[in-house]
Amino acid sequence: MKKITKLLVANRGEIALRVLRSAKEMGIRTVAIYSEADRQALHVRYADEAVCVGPPPSAQSYLRGDRIIEICQELGVDAVHPGYGFLSENAGFARAVRAAGLVFVGPSPEAMELMGSKLAAKAAVAGFDIPLVPGTDEAITDVPAAKAIAAQVGFPILIKASAGGGGKGMRVVNNAAEFEEQMQLAVSEATSAFGDGAVFIEKYIGSPRHIEIQVLGDEHGHIVHLFERECSIQRRHQKVIEEAPSAVLTPELRARMGQAAVDVARACHYTGAGTVEFLLDENHQFYFLEMNTRLQVEHPVTEQITGLDLVKEQIRVAEGQPLPFRQEDLRIQGHALELRVYAEDPQNNFLPDIGTLTTYVRPQGPGVRVDDGFEQGMEIPIYYDPMIAKLVTFGADRAEAIARMLRAIEEYKITGIETTLAFGAYVLRHPAFVSGHFDTNFIRDHFPAGALAPAAPDEATARVAAALVATLLETQKPAAPAAPGEMPGAAASGWRRNRLGVR
Ligand code: ADP
Ligand code: ADP
Ligand code: MG
Repeated sequence: MKKITKLLVANRGEIALRVLRSAKEMGIRTVAIYSEADRQALHVRYADEAVCVGPPPSAQSYLRGDRIIEICQELGVDAVHPGYGFLSENAGFARAVRAAGLVFVGPSPEAMELMGSKLAAKAAVAGFDIPLVPGTDEAITDVPAAKAIAAQVGFPILIKASAGGGGKGMRVVNNAAEFEEQMQLAVSEATSAFGDGAVFIEKYIGSPRHIEIQVLGDEHGHIVHLFERECSIQRRHQKVIEEAPSAVLTPELRARMGQAAVDVARACHYTGAGTVEFLLDENHQFYFLEMNTRLQVEHPVTEQITGLDLVKEQIRVAEGQPLPFRQEDLRIQGHALELRVYAEDPQNNFLPDIGTLTTYVRPQGPGVRVDDGFEQGMEIPIYYDPMIAKLVTFGADRAEAIARMLRAIEEYKITGIETTLAFGAYVLRHPAFVSGHFDTNFIRDHFPAGALAPAAPDEATARVAAALVATLLETQKPAAPAAPGEMPGAAASGWRRNRLGVR
């Protein structure tokens, strides 16, 4: 057991704050790092100590692993939490942290390396009974041979970067004629984005849902899963809205996918919190996609339905403590939703927006959690990920979680910058989302251009009137029970028609 007493968070913004908060609750002293663009950031003020690591570009600041380790040594830090993004999936950094005698709050460098390559990951799970998307199990280099495989798999296919992440490095190929050009584009994209040009082929699943399973392992060989997250509402192959549990998983399918995820984690001797991602097709067949060896943006929905604090669990596991529960102790309680509030313009292809948060008022009240790193008057820096906040709601069931999310979106006031808030409200009201029948093509299929155009004035007025009526009815409902044979509430609706003359 290596007790952690002082933790450095090698990240910024909302995720740095998220980690700092759990550390504080555990009585652990904290160190933040920041770039020159983040001097005023909340995570800097929140930590016990904060050190500037360099100029705004992340290569000169948040990615300076060497400098970060030096700071740890100067300040007597004993552990590093990488958050997500930046160095969180960098096995070399994890190795250097360990070599410096520090604890890395995450899996072993070997597990990171194995799962950091989608191809190596697929090879590693081959010994288990885990379904893979049909395709190649090696990097493709020879175009004619690759074309033959593509024809065998059947078009459309997807060319993917083995080292890919963040939705980048993927190209859909619809027929053999396009193949060569798309493959060259994929290789050059993969090389420039990830420094590794290895690409492979997967069958393109037409209408999949993205369902992932949260896993947690300790250093004593125990691995559990914390159920699923549904992440099918995506733009550019990246998630915008997530929920737990999924509206479509049966207990039986949940158990099978959970077991598959635990097997994937076992295949790489996984320790700490990780996520095993799957696609689920229309026939409810699931296929292993990849494993993310870090905390994930959408981890709060799992926290809400399990009552666990995943950051605390990560820290305890890193200290060498055994997991305090077994699979059979875990239960799903209620329903949670997360909307990623991005500084992006949903009406303009989700183009990142920059500017100042002229107004910034957070929603409050029952079942609402906001994880953010900004305050009113702050600027969204152009150097980093454009996420402003994670807006999370929790309810007894899906309907209540949705109603709370809609209410929270309405309370959330952001001006000065375009955000995904209105898009979130649009999705949550959409019949496809409400019914649970949707897949990763939601935006293509259900979000036409102009969908967020402001409602015509008379329509808006009508809505306000209707809401007013509903409120009045609630507060002035006659106390007397409905007469025999009359539907409950019938008297009230008669009253509505007569007194207010609406409808
Ligand atoms: P998650 O998988 O946790 O839902 P994302 O895929 O959106 O989250 O990525 C989380 C963060 O990590 C984002 O800031 C994203 O830009 C970044 N990220 C993820 N994978 C990579 C990668 N391979 N290279 C660079 N950044 C990445
Ligand atoms: P990343 O490393 O960028 O997160 P993933 O393999 O996890 O890459 O895929 C990201 C998203 O791309 C998925 O959630 C899904 O929407 C889409 N996708 C990936 N593979 C396929 C596939 N074979 N067929 C259809 N869509 C896919
Ligand atoms: Mg992924």
